[in-house]
This record gives sequence, structure tokens and C-alpha cells, in this order.
Amino acid sequence: SDSEESDSSGAECLYRVVLLGDHGVGKSSLASIFAGIQEKDAHHHIGEDTYERTLTVDGEETTLVVMDTWETEKQEEDEKWVQDYCMQVGNAYVIVYSITDRSSFESASELRIQLRRIRQAENIPIILVGNKSDLVRCREVAVEEGRACAVVFDCKFIETSASLHHNVHELFEGIVRQIRLRRDSKET
Ligand code: GDP
Ligand code: MG
Repeated sequence: SDSEESDSSGAECLYRVVLLGDHGVGKSSLASIFAGIQEKDAHHHIGEDTYERTLTVDGEETTLVVMDTWETEKQEEDEKWVQDYCMQVGNAYVIVYSITDRSSFESASELRIQLRRIRQAENIPIILVGNKSDLVRCREVAVEEGRACAVVFDCKFIETSASLHHNVHELFEGIVRQIRLRRDSKET
């Protein structure tokens, strides 16, 4: 259907997508691919770590604001504030781990639990991302483990390689589709 304004936050729907995950897993790499894909499209750099782009998925446009704000270089106290803020403002979340780093996979689970606690009543789209799939020989987390984790946590799952740009478009398109599924089910 063509009905709009399911989200009162903007006349044209704009969705905030927050990247979560340990240091070094590839959040900024994924964000910059998002920011750079299809240079001809209108996109701009809002702040240091926030990128806005309009994607056409299944013939419909959706604007995503991707926030790579989870990690800060500031004092610990600020970081706590920023992280609380990140947990509150997302319309969708990308929880990233590295397939070469088991502890980052464990952190991803903790983040999922934290998010569920903070945004309890809401059915927010979450995608678990196993990045660095190109580093085959350094793999510590099997694809099946990632997939099983996503089933337990009731979220989507994808493995990506920011280095090879593999599955990165698919990741952001997947987010758009997840957002629409929830929007459309609210309308009916
Ligand atoms: P962040 O701390 O989560 O923002 O991670 P970064 O995006 O800064 O990436 C950390 C390091 O991992 C950098 O040296 C990246 O070049 C590297 N990296 C990120 N994604 C990949 C990937 O998919 N494959 C490989 N081989 N390296 C990656
Ligand atoms: Mg970073």
C-alpha cells in the first residue's frame, strides 16, 4: 500500500540504525561502505559518525541514518551516557561481531540481552552480523553458531566481509525490509 506516516518522527520516513559491537569488529568499515555506496545518490555526512542515505529497496525509497556512535574516545563517564543514548534512539540495531574473535561474539549476546531489557515492549528490528567472513583461516565462530544465536535471540543473521564488500548491501537492504515488515503489520 502507499499509506505513509507510520512513523510520526518525520514527514518522510527516516529510520535510525545504530551499530553496536566490540572495538575492532568492523562497525566503522561497514558504516563507511554504507555511506559510500552509489556515490550518485544523495547522501551526506551529518556528523563524525552518522551517515544518512536514501536506499531504494523493492522499488520504494527509505532513508536510513546509520549511527556509528557506540564507541567514543572520551572519558568513561561520557561513554556510559553515549551508550545509554544509543540504546534508546535506534529504530533498528546492527549487532556486529567478528567471526575471528569469539569474545566479540559473546559481547554480541550481551548486547542483545541489554537491548531487550532496555527496549522491552518494542519489537525493534535487530540484525546479528558476523563480519570478516573473508578471514577463513582465522575463523573462531562457525556460521551455524551465529545462525543458532540469532534464532535464540529472535533476530536476523548475516555474515559479511567489509573488506570484500560482501553482503554489505544485503545487510542494509535487510534492515529496510525488517523495518517495513513491522510498519506494515502495524497498519493492518
Ligand atoms: P570498529 O572498531 O568496530 O569500528 O572496526 P573497524 O571498522 O575500525 O575495523 C577494525 C579493523 O578490522 C580495521 O583494520 C579494518 O580494516 C578491519 N576489518 C574490518 N572489516 C573487515 C573485514 O570484513 N575483513 C577483514 N579482513 N578486515 C576487516
Ligand atoms: Mg569504529
